[in-house]
Amino acid sequence: MASELTQAITELSGVGKAAEENLATMNIQTIEDLIWTFPYRHEDFRLKDLAETPHNERVTVEGRIESVPTVLFLGNKKSRLQVQMLAGRHLIKVVFFNQGYLKNKLQPGTNVTVTGKWDRGRQVINGTNINFGSADEHADFEPVYSIKGKLSQKKFRNFMRQALDLYGHQIQETLPMELLSKYKLMPIDQALEGIHFPKDGNMAKQARRRFVYQELLLFQLKIQALRKARKEDEHGTIIRYDVEKLRQFFDALPYELTGAQKRVVNEVCKDLLVPHRMNRLLQGDVGSGKTVVAASMLYAAVTAGFQGALMAPTGILAEQHAESLNEWLAPFGVSLALLTGATKTKARREILERLDNGELDIVIGTHALIQPDVIFNRLGLVITDEQHRFGVEQRRILKDKGANPDVLFMTATPIPRTLSITAFGEMDVSIIDELPAGRKEIETHWLKHEQFNQVLQKMESELAAGRQAYVICPLIEESDKLDVQNAVDVYQQLATVFQGKFEVGLMHGRLHSDDKDEVMREFSEGKLNILVSTTVVEVGVNVPNATFMIIYDAERFGLAQLHQLRGRVGRGEHQSYCILLADPKSDEGKERMMSMVEMTDGFRLAEKDLELRGPGDFFGRKQSGLPEFKVADLIHDYRALETARQDATELVASEKFWTDSRYASLRGTLEQSGILDGERID
Ligand code: ADP
Ligand code: MG
Repeated sequence: MASELTQAITELSGVGKAAEENLATMNIQTIEDLIWTFPYRHEDFRLKDLAETPHNERVTVEGRIESVPTVLFLGNKKSRLQVQMLAGRHLIKVVFFNQGYLKNKLQPGTNVTVTGKWDRGRQVINGTNINFGSADEHADFEPVYSIKGKLSQKKFRNFMRQALDLYGHQIQETLPMELLSKYKLMPIDQALEGIHFPKDGNMAKQARRRFVYQELLLFQLKIQALRKARKEDEHGTIIRYDVEKLRQFFDALPYELTGAQKRVVNEVCKDLLVPHRMNRLLQGDVGSGKTVVAASMLYAAVTAGFQGALMAPTGILAEQHAESLNEWLAPFGVSLALLTGATKTKARREILERLDNGELDIVIGTHALIQPDVIFNRLGLVITDEQHRFGVEQRRILKDKGANPDVLFMTATPIPRTLSITAFGEMDVSIIDELPAGRKEIETHWLKHEQFNQVLQKMESELAAGRQAYVICPLIEESDKLDVQNAVDVYQQLATVFQGKFEVGLMHGRLHSDDKDEVMREFSEGKLNILVSTTVVEVGVNVPNATFMIIYDAERFGLAQLHQLRGRVGRGEHQSYCILLADPKSDEGKERMMSMVEMTDGFRLAEKDLELRGPGDFFGRKQSGLPEFKVADLIHDYRALETARQDATELVASEKFWTDSRYASLRGTLEQSGILDGERID
């Protein structure tokens, strides 16, 4: 479909070499690129009454110059111009920076329209725009684009005006009539005009509403189409597990599974039996008992004659898992091995051989599992624990080691639904939203640093009763810049205080991983009473005898991380305590501390975290799987997201979507994106 829209941007009048290069840095090469570059806000040039304008808000006023301007030169070609102006009943000052040339134009008696930020206390407008005469040459709303380089807003607007006038009508409608009328959405031509050059606030809002829906619908269509394609793909593995054996496994456990665990086991079992590949995310709060679910599913695969792999992010965690699984599964004749970076060469060679020839049923390990020479005989199920710790690539490599093995990702970071259906929309999600019975809620207190002695006493009485304690510090070594307690200092201090009474260990990220594992082992075996650590301890470790945790400078951590840290205690039969030592300065920081004291439910905390930090920071890393939306905002457009998801699910499941010409343009965008041939990983 040849279209003038794909012509170079230089077709527009006024786009010379410099502008072309400038636009290229903004990824604008064609007319179409330009049209799809939306303003990030609109300048509101409607006149306002200063009496009703709040401090620091942008405002446009009309008035008369009342004094001769003064210009102050600030050096380095900078200057500050100040003049008095009568705007309505208000005699105010107007200030412009680096626009000394205005001095001659701004003579007493001149009528002007000024836009800028209103400093209510000082009765000053810090001007950014000025027009002469009251006849306003501005539209009421002017788009403001995020422009890189030297190009002015005015020029950019001019290019946009041309592009819309000359080529705008060629942009095809993507949304079918049915949806446009169902939600009363603007058709594409009106919406483009409305998002760039709205006549009023409502037009801008309606235009935005259309593009938000469009963006979310297309995204959801893609992931729902992917999901459908996977479900219809018969090339996965059918794992016909032995129900009777699985039942015996559950009967042999020292406890009964919680209702949520049972539900998840059933969900996974169903996936095992069908020919399409399982791609499931298991979210379960810290301590909800994901490991035993993983173990049972790996065993299920083994009973069907397959091998299973369990990948954990740290050596110590892999070791703990290997220990648990061995205890549970060895009695059933399952052969397991642990493969980490610390595995000795000879042992490693033997493990590889036994994996390859099929003697080993289950391998548990770290990144060591994804080395090229690790070859499976008949890998059927892959489980990754604490999946947020792994990159997409690492997960893909492990998955590729089998012929389309089923994959289960486990995470203890509860993900709010908005993010979950966006980042993991094409996966099936299972949730363990129940803790094993009899767990005591962790008592959480927020104290100031000067109350430390009190905390110390409480800790001592716990230790004296045979319990263990974690002390978490944000940094490793002292830094001049940050006034934070560091792990080394705290370690020395506690070692001195408790000398001869209790053993104190130190763990931080700069230790060699073998040493880390060694310290962790000593702690989990009870040889150490106190473990002073940075956040490296955060992930997954299970020491049920540890009941006391102090978190220094707790305000430095996000809610999700605090929750993970706190989850290291409260894992056994004894009452546990978590002490947050914090002097937060910001309201947000105070709110975080209060939330920790009041809430123990990971999902509620996650919602709170999202509210406080926004979606961008929620995962705290690049490979979050969150797409970057042009217009949609995952928090504010939550309802549009739900609607779009539902519509997408229904469309993809319907016959008409795949055959009817009314949906051709929607289908076209899916094909264009290549989403129907390729596949996302996580
Ligand atoms: P997480 O979901 O954080 O990985 P774990 O799998 O480490 O949690 O389980 C935490 C603790 O709870 C372990 O000591 C485990 O043995 C125990 N546990 C798991 N399921 C149950 C259950 N249904 N009843 C009692 N204890 C359980
Ligand atoms: Mg775990």
